Amino acid sequence: MKKFNKNRRCIECPLCNSKNNKTISIFNTEFISKFLIAGNEKKYLKNIWGDCIKKELCENCGLMFANPFVPGDKEYYSKAYSDEKLYPAKRWEFKETLKFLSDKKNESLLEIGSGNGAFLKKAKDLLKVNNIFSLEYSNNSIKILRDMGINAYQQDFLNFTPPQKIHNICMFQVLEHMGDIDLVIKKLHKTLEKNGFGIDSPPNT
Ligand SMILES: [Zn+2]
Repeated sequence: MKKFNKNRRCIECPLCNSKNNKTISIFNTEFISKFLIAGNEKKYLKNIWGDCIKKELCENCGLMFANPFVPGDKEYYSKAYSDEKLYPAKRWEFKETLKFLSDKKNESLLEIGSGNGAFLKKAKDLLKVNNIFSLEYSNNSIKILRDMGINAYQQDFLNFTPPQKIHNICMFQVLEHMGDIDLVIKKLHKTLEKNGFGIDSPPNT
């Protein structure tokens, strides 16, 4: 089965592979660019999405997804988050996760999509975990994370080979930004220690 054509236009639902999808709305790429990309980089999204992007609904499993289904890369996040204040500093799930991790001593922690390190700074200060790793795309943020003393890699999770197996992998509102979700789940399984935890908090859309 083939989920996408060569332009990442979905042929099938990215989750259940059904072809039973209907278009809910169509957005003009140039219009959306105003909200996502600053300054004179606005044409960038047109290059990767084409003239329009559709919101589609899978009538089989209920997933709503953007079509084309293009996950952001280093270039996208460096442009979209050129202003570091755009990353949220507070999230309720940070608190819940810190509570969950509070009795885990000498364990390793990886956050995928750390932004400016709002969560990892707290984890570093409050937890007794060892070996904190970060994956982050944005040029600005990778510098901030490294200045904090965090082992931060500007890499895609699917191509990342961590120096060790990881006990706890967190991603806060990140999974819904990724393509090939089934490969991400397989990679999580491969990267985690036996009995390790993957913690994710996708928004309820
Ligand atoms: Zn589906």
